[in-house]
Amino acid sequence: MSPLGTVNESSKLGWRGLIEEYRAFLPVRPDTKVISLGEGATPLIYARHLSELKSANVYLKFEGANPTGSFKDRGMTLAITKAIEAGSKAVVCASTGNTSASAAAYATAADVSCIVLIPAGYIALGKLAQALIYGAKVVQIRGNFDKALEIVRELGETKPVTVVNSINPYRIEGQKTGAFEVVDQLGFAPDYHFIPVGNAGNITAYWKGYNEYVSAGKCDTLPKMIGVQAAGAAPIVLGHPVENPDTIATAIRIGNPASWKGALLAKSESGGDIFSVTDSEILFAYRMLAKSESVFCEPASASSVAGLIKTDITPGSSVVCVLTGHGLKDPDTAISQIEVPNAVDATIEAISEAIFL
Ligand SMILES: *Cc1c(COP(=O)(O)O)cnc(C)c1O
Repeated sequence: MSPLGTVNESSKLGWRGLIEEYRAFLPVRPDTKVISLGEGATPLIYARHLSELKSANVYLKFEGANPTGSFKDRGMTLAITKAIEAGSKAVVCASTGNTSASAAAYATAADVSCIVLIPAGYIALGKLAQALIYGAKVVQIRGNFDKALEIVRELGETKPVTVVNSINPYRIEGQKTGAFEVVDQLGFAPDYHFIPVGNAGNITAYWKGYNEYVSAGKCDTLPKMIGVQAAGAAPIVLGHPVENPDTIATAIRIGNPASWKGALLAKSESGGDIFSVTDSEILFAYRMLAKSESVFCEPASASSVAGLIKTDITPGSSVVCVLTGHGLKDPDTAISQIEVPNAVDATIEAISEAIFL
């Protein structure tokens, strides 16, 4: 804990973390001990090329700028804060990677232990490294995310551990602050909100956030919520669970989303849509975001922009695409999408030849 107060007040020039900043909207008491790493206040970047392409004003909410590199920190600061308030000594989660990295970091900040179950062979290298280096007990299972979540639910009912997956309602409460920030940054709610959908907690959370901000008089309108799934892991689009989900976007490689109903509500109440994009559309958007907009996100994140590229939107609209996690999480995919240059001699001649030929 910072000696200055309950959170690290040196972060982001006065930003005190999202629980302190949005306290009035969150289920905390005046005496709640807040566990924060200064999450939130992520950049909303104007996307020049996408704006031109769609004749609209397109903004990218870059959640990779959170302390552990994904939006999961928004939910985790509150989930761990509430677990501590309830006297919990250990937390557990199933994860496609980012939840485990975030849970591990916040559990360490709270001096409680963290157990994570991940599908062996299907999480990006950076995320596995993070969970381990933050000190979590990592168990790789021979089974996919959906199986891991099933086991975690059971552990939560039978063992003295708190589940911090998004079936924990505090996760959604924390994540709704993403919508607050978008409105605070733009000055209004966008016409369209594009978002990747895996377990569907985040689309549920953003929709809740926008609605609460309208009720509080902070904005007048609500966006159309456009959820984007990967074609090989698109249960909500298909209308039934997918037994063996498969996509390069490992963070949304989920066949039976926990917040399925929340996603459908966000779609129907907002007059939005949920559809899928292929892995090659995801990778196109992934490369394009880095090359044209200077934003390096992970493949799952790029699905929101892949969805925007495919969608006819009213010219002049305002659009926000959430980019859920940082590109450095998944170096293997980045390397697979580029040509790594060969080494040359350290002479002007050799270097000139390499550059200009
Ligand atoms: C968790 C995650 C998602 C999916 O979010 P849900 O709330 O499960 O729908 C998308 N992208 C990244 C990078 C994630 O970590």
